[in-house]
Amino acid sequence: MTVIKDSTCTFCGCVCDDIDVTVENNRIVEAKRACVLGKAWFLNHHADDRASCLIEGSPAPVEEGVERAARILTEARYPIVYGLSDTTSEAQRVAVGIADWIGGIVDTTTSVCHGPSGMAFQGVGEVTCSLGEIANRGDLIIFWGGNPAESHPRHFTKYSLMPKGLFVPNGRKDRTAVGIDVRNTKTAKAMDLFFQIKPRRDFEALWTLRALAKGLTLDAAQVKEDTGIELSRWEDLMKRMKAARFGVILFGMGLTMTRGKHLNSEALLSLARDMNAFTRFVVKPMRGHGNVTGADNVVSWTTGYPFGVNLTRGYPRFNPGEYTTADTLARGEADAALIIASDPMANFSQAARERLQSIPYIALDPKDTPTTRAATVTFTTATYGINVAGTVYRMDDVPIYLRPAFPSSHPSDFDVLSAISRRVQELAH
Ligand code: SF4
Repeated sequence: MTVIKDSTCTFCGCVCDDIDVTVENNRIVEAKRACVLGKAWFLNHHADDRASCLIEGSPAPVEEGVERAARILTEARYPIVYGLSDTTSEAQRVAVGIADWIGGIVDTTTSVCHGPSGMAFQGVGEVTCSLGEIANRGDLIIFWGGNPAESHPRHFTKYSLMPKGLFVPNGRKDRTAVGIDVRNTKTAKAMDLFFQIKPRRDFEALWTLRALAKGLTLDAAQVKEDTGIELSRWEDLMKRMKAARFGVILFGMGLTMTRGKHLNSEALLSLARDMNAFTRFVVKPMRGHGNVTGADNVVSWTTGYPFGVNLTRGYPRFNPGEYTTADTLARGEADAALIIASDPMANFSQAARERLQSIPYIALDPKDTPTTRAATVTFTTATYGINVAGTVYRMDDVPIYLRPAFPSSHPSDFDVLSAISRRVQELAH
């Protein structure tokens, strides 16, 4: 029996790095301090005897898979590299390099979750901070369009509501928690104030707050009609926001994936910026997958843009909607794909799925999924965090190094992608 102290859970964007993992016979039998989702992530993982490589469904040596993959990618005219949110940043970096060598597109699952926020960051920037600052300073915490009580179960206790911090010594008692959402969720029940706004009216609610921050006079009936909430309640919230010493807005896909999309994100980021005329205020998206923040970081520091980057002309171009994977597939443009640690066959539109099924593509994933089952070349890879070391970025852009529990018989994403990259470079010359 071995105990790995301070192991890291990569199931959600909290990336908790304080989990004590007990391993017996290559199986995790205990994950101390993990939440219910984290426990399932660790305890359901076990060694398997699947082949590490399949070519058209038949087992093959990994080297043969690498050769076939490199040929598919170099012979394509409009290849795409997609996924990347559930692997190490070391592997993400190699994948971006492959997209560059083959003159293709690199896109991540951000394009189907916080893509609108990625666009808004490019436009108005982000007043940001670490989760440690929130734990130590945050005295007014606003959750907008998310349900962390169920999606990120340790967020409240570790970072945002309960911790006793340097400037909030009484923990929860020193904080005011505010929920703004169209649904009355489990998160709403944990709040001091809850604003159940009209569906698809986030933009109007945000601009109501922006107007109040500037001291403008608003028509009470119009505000109620637009947002579903009385003007007096918005005024009370703005008073609290101005009086806070360290205000925080944490937002989820309820804001970014509703009517308004990137304009909602822009309004929210602008509101946080406006509030800094009165007090310190920050804003952060609640990110889902374990290393989706790493994907944004790596693609940004290699190409200058966070996702949906076209490298076909030898320099990066960013145009969500044109270069994002769901669109290049649905329009029938992509003619080969490298899919890493994601499952577009399970969640893309029918047109996109049909196109993916009709072109040669390579899939890397520790799990057996609809995407790996339909791939021309499938690599079963080792699981990051459990079998593989490397770096992941927490949702606040803080990089954390992984401590794996036990080795796997499968290669890592990094190993497979590095081999494909080497072969692609030989073929491209
Ligand atoms: S909150 Fe997220 S990272 Fe932390 S233990 Fe739970 S699932 Fe894992």
